[in-house]
Parts: sequence; C-alpha cells; structure tokens
Amino acid sequence: MKGIDDLDVSGRRVLLRADLNVPLDASGPGEPRITDDGRIRASLPTITKLTGRGARVIICAHLGRPKGDGYAERAAGGPSLLPVARRLGELLGRPVAFAGDAAGESAATVAAGIADGDVALLENVRFEPTETGKDDAERGAFAARLAALAALYVGDGFGAVHRKHASVYDLPGLLPHAAGDLVLAEVAVLRQLTTDPAAPFTVVLGGAKPSDKLGVIANLLGSVDRLLIGGGMSYTFLKAQGHEVGHSLLEADKIPQVSAMLEEAARLGVELVLPVDLVAATHYAPDASHDVVPVTAFPADREGVDIGPATRELFAQKLSDAKTVFWNGPLGVFEFPAFAAGTRAVAEAITQVGGLTVVGGGDSAAAVRSFGIPDDAFSHISTGGGASLEFLEGKTLPGLTALEENA
Ligand code: ADP
Ligand code: MG
Repeated sequence: MKGIDDLDVSGRRVLLRADLNVPLDASGPGEPRITDDGRIRASLPTITKLTGRGARVIICAHLGRPKGDGYAERAAGGPSLLPVARRLGELLGRPVAFAGDAAGESAATVAAGIADGDVALLENVRFEPTETGKDDAERGAFAARLAALAALYVGDGFGAVHRKHASVYDLPGLLPHAAGDLVLAEVAVLRQLTTDPAAPFTVVLGGAKPSDKLGVIANLLGSVDRLLIGGGMSYTFLKAQGHEVGHSLLEADKIPQVSAMLEEAARLGVELVLPVDLVAATHYAPDASHDVVPVTAFPADREGVDIGPATRELFAQKLSDAKTVFWNGPLGVFEFPAFAAGTRAVAEAITQVGGLTVVGGGDSAAAVRSFGIPDDAFSHISTGGGASLEFLEGKTLPGLTALEENA
C-alpha cells in the first residue's frame, strides 16, 4: 500500500476519507455533544501531514445512521457533521471550512475556495443514499461526484474500510491514491496480531452478542493460547455448558455453534476461560439491586450484568504472563457505574502486561477513556471495531483492497 509520502500533494486538492464517526449525546438542548473525540484526534496526524505539505485538504466522513429515502429527508433528520467541524477546528487550532452538503453545490464551492494548507469538511456522506448502495453503477456515479472535487485521494477512515461504500471502495479507483498514516498504523498492528504473535497470546472477548464475534474466535483458535470470554456474549457459552442464565443476554440459536467451538478449543489445546461468578441484577437499570452469584447457582429471575470479583481476579491472573493481548468488548454493562468493575479490572490488568496490547471496539475504547486510563497505557487502541474484527476474522476488507489496487 502506498502512503502519503508517495504522493505529490503540494498545492493540490486532496480528498481525505477520514473516520470522524464519534459518539454524540443528543439528550440536552441545542447541538448534540461529542462524548468521545478519540476518532477526531486519531485523524489529526494525517491531516496535519497533508496541510504541512501544502495540500488543500477536503475531508469526507460519515456520522451515525441517517434515515430516509432521499438526501433531503436524511439531511433534515441528521446527524450533521457541523459539531465535528467545530471540534476539529479547535484541535487543529485553525478554522475548518464546512460544506452544507456532501457532494453538491456547497461542496463544490468550498472545494474551489480553499487555499494551500487549508482544511474543509464535507457534510455527512451518508446523507447521500447511494454512498452505501448495493447497486455498483449508482454507487460509482456518486463516487464520481466526489472525485470531481479533488485531484488525489487519501484513505484514512480505518473504521469504515470493511464497508463496500462509494467513498471507501469506489473512489480510490477514480483518483491517484494512498493510504493515510492511521490506516497504515492500524494495519501494521493487526498484521502483528495475525502473523506470529508472541506467546502467550491472550484474547479477551466481551460485548453484547456472540454472533458478532464467532467468526473471530474461529479464525483465532489456531494462533491463540488463551481465550477469556465475559460480558453479554458469555451467557450463551455458559448456557451451552448447561448453566442457568436467567434473563441474561442469550442467543439461543447460537448454542450449537458455541458448543462446537468449545470442543474445537479443547481439541486445539486453547485454554478457554469463562466467568466463575457473575453480578446478577433484578433488571437492566443503573440502580437495580444485585448480588454476586457463582455461575453454578444463577437465579432464574435475574439478569447477568457484570463478571464477579472472583472472575476479575481469575482474568487478571490469566493475563499476567501474556506477551500479546487483544481485547474487544466490555465485560459488563460498563455504562452503569455499578456494573463497570469487571471491565475496569480487565482494562487495568491489560495495562500491566509487558508486550503488545491492542484494544478494539468503540465501546471498549469508550470504557477505557471513561475510567480515565490514558490511551498510551496500551500499545494501540483501534479506531475500528468492526474493521479490526473482520481483519482478525481473515476477511478481505474492501477499502484496503481498493487502496492496494492501481495506486
Ligand atoms: P465494542 O463496541 O467494544 O466492540 P460491543 O459493541 O460488542 O463492544 O458491546 C458493547 C456493549 O455490550 C455495551 O453497550 C455493554 O453494555 C454491553 N454488555 C456487556 N456485557 C453485558 C451484559 N452482561 N448484559 C448486557 N449488555 C452487556
Ligand atoms: Mg459497539
């Protein structure tokens, strides 16, 4: 894959596909508030490298999941990237021009008006329904409208590279292109995890649903030494082992697959560690009453919301001698402070590991930051949950393939 150093960007318009898909809190009055600007910060090195070389940087990005049939309906419903433009301007210490549409008249005017070293941000690219379209010709036609705004393309939106979308997949085919520094860094770390990771290689998986992660488990079983499973997805594993799980999250249709996976892990000599105790709450609420119970005695009328103290200790001990760690998915409902202890304990245990430590997943990254743990306590916090999981599943990522081709 070519990098920015391989492009002559000085004085030229560069369309930069970035991942600025930050979580928003729209519950207050007025403009939605950015609750974690990690993805904006992670995009800064590529932006400043380009502006430092005199490029005219036109950023294209998506935000949230706009709904509606046409552009107008989606734009009216939001979310707009305007608060992101403002935050980006603050972090860059310079104004960011904002186009009121994704690839229309305003985008053309803004693109024509910026000078060498300037930065502009286009409105939410997913306001354009064909950005994510299934029809190749329609998607290609939209990509051509974006291509008309610039002379060069830089792909740096790692969190979207697993998507076959116009701005990610079709656009690199229309302009001379390179990968941005963030994409190159993310890929380098994931390659380290998939090619000969230092042993013991310990993977911690949590989060809501096993269906999101079974592919990763299947692909990693051949290289991982220990697999620690907690969070919402662990109840399907516990159920597969015959335990009562009450009203906890459960994907009953995945039990056969999970049972097969438990057998496969045993056959390959992978140590698969499940919770030994759980926090059982009366219901899903921040102030629900709760008790710690062993997995062998889970009350049928309760819901599991966190790993228990014995499991926290067990997981920390299983991590203590690791040389490579990948962690994806909170170990409990960390959004409720009463049920965040398991996720916090695992995060802290990983910061003590001497070796390569990688955190993947938007909620996992948000959890780490909510605990006040600095990003540099880990080797790498991936900006792309879905993208990093699909990479580790061994899937081909369309956005990376497009950047590799005809660069
Ligand atoms: P990531 O974004 O890091 O990949 P996921 O999206 O897979 O993580 O999962 C995050 C969600 O899983 C969080 O919102 C968290 O509340 C939820 N979760 C974790 N454990 C449980 C549980 N025991 N019951 C319900 N939800 C859970
Ligand atoms: Mg998530």
